[in-house]
Amino acid sequence: MRTLVLNAGYEPLAVVSFKRALVLVMNDKANVIEHDENSPVWAATDAYDRPAVIVLTRYVRVPHVRRVPVTRRGVLRRDAHRCAYCGRNATTIDHVQPRSRGGADSWENLVAACVRCNNVKSDRTPQEMGWTLRIRPEPPRGATWVVRGSERAEPSWGPYLEMAA
Ligand SMILES: [Zn+2]
Repeated sequence: MRTLVLNAGYEPLAVVSFKRALVLVMNDKANVIEHDENSPVWAATDAYDRPAVIVLTRYVRVPHVRRVPVTRRGVLRRDAHRCAYCGRNATTIDHVQPRSRGGADSWENLVAACVRCNNVKSDRTPQEMGWTLRIRPEPPRGATWVVRGSERAEPSWGPYLEMAA
């Protein structure tokens, strides 16, 4: 079981184990705002609800720009596994400007692509193929990208992650 930690301003900050969350709460470093009532924690003879979401009592400064590293999985997730050229299910990633011609491994130059489009396009640009991109590739934003572990969110986290998106 994991707990979503919000900064004092309610921005999602981190995902921690519920044990770590309990320690923060017991030390008055955080308050519980959402419990998981379905799976209580047993300590001695008492049961406690597991903290699902906690908010820090003091504001923690975080670096303003947290750039999300580019990964193959990340590109597929950003593009919702849809081919940037034909919209079908995508399992590969394509360099819009081919790598052999100086195309970078960047969020702006990588898109999800189906095997067919990827093979047909090969080392050519979309312009040379007469193709247009269905999306504008950009670095992803939002809490579920910058807070590690939050992409696999518990249902009770939803509203707090959406507020920050
Ligand atoms: Zn395609």
